[in-house]
Amino acid sequence: MAAGLRDDSAVQMHTPTSLRDALDIRASVPHAVAVNGGTDLMVEMTFRHRRPVELIDLTRVPELQEWAVEDGTLRLGAGMTFACLMQPPFDSHVPALAQAARTIGSPQIRNRATIGGNLATASPAGDSLPPLLVHEARLELASRVASRLVSLEHFLVGPKRSLLADDELIVSVRLPLIDGPQTFMKIGTRNAMVISVASLCLAIDARQGEVRAAYGSAGPVVGLVRKSLDAIDELPDAVAAACSPIDDVRGTASYRRHALRVLTTRALERCLR
Ligand SMILES: Cc1cc2nc3c(=O)[nH]c(=O)nc-3n(C[C@H](O)[C@H](O)[C@H](O)COP(=O)(O)OP(=O)(O)OC[C@H]3O[C@@H](n4cnc5c(N)ncnc54)[C@H](O)[C@@H]3O)c2cc1C
Repeated sequence: MAAGLRDDSAVQMHTPTSLRDALDIRASVPHAVAVNGGTDLMVEMTFRHRRPVELIDLTRVPELQEWAVEDGTLRLGAGMTFACLMQPPFDSHVPALAQAARTIGSPQIRNRATIGGNLATASPAGDSLPPLLVHEARLELASRVASRLVSLEHFLVGPKRSLLADDELIVSVRLPLIDGPQTFMKIGTRNAMVISVASLCLAIDARQGEVRAAYGSAGPVVGLVRKSLDAIDELPDAVAAACSPIDDVRGTASYRRHALRVLTTRALERCLR
């Protein structure tokens, strides 16, 4: 290396093999950044938007790969990839989430990208977020000293901003299973490898007697709209009224609002036929 140049490419990697170890490192090295699939973080590092000097590799933490169904609730480890979540049995437990998983990036991205990374990035365009919102998902956040359950609605506080504290990791996401049809749709400027221009997830929840629709890429955070089953026809207009999109390079606000009304109508047709 030439004299006077600093080698700032050196990154120290921590490789915990248990959740306890990962949380210990998180607590004792507060500036260390967690990485799982790296599909968001490595892009940020390549463009020098983030320059972590220490990383915590979560890929060898077995607790983050576990899943279970207990008392009608599906618990998904934060380290599960979308390649896994698009397959059985998840396509029957949480079909809309599996549909969303199939639309994410490319096979290479889906093999690496995790649900925990999608949640921690907290982008309003994150494709797993509308299905999770429709399921009224709760996140299990843990630090070395405590763990807490937070609803996804409360977790997301702004574009790419969440309630995750510096010493916490997302351990799992819990989804009450829904008795009724559900679907996910998204619009992009091409069929694959695009950020959603607008996305929509809809579920008819027979047990609660309501229909829920969640939209993405149409506001600072993903949003949820509920209607009772006897007011189901009001849903497309209610979604269009609830969203707060902006004009950007991918589409105008008025196009996104119109698209969400159309997607909601189509999603209802799909779920009711
Ligand atoms: C080419 C390409 C296409 C893409 N297409 C899509 C798409 O269609 N739809 C979509 O939604 N996204 C897409 N993405 C974005 C990305 O793949 C997802 O957001 C992915 O889910 C991130 O998961 P990861 O494991 O790779 O996260 P990482 O990159 O490893 O981490 C992302 C952030 O989450 C934090 N983090 C990760 N795991 C945890 C945890 N357990 N607890 C706390 N913090 C954690 C990291 O510290 C970091 O801040 C795409 C990305 C690329 C590069």
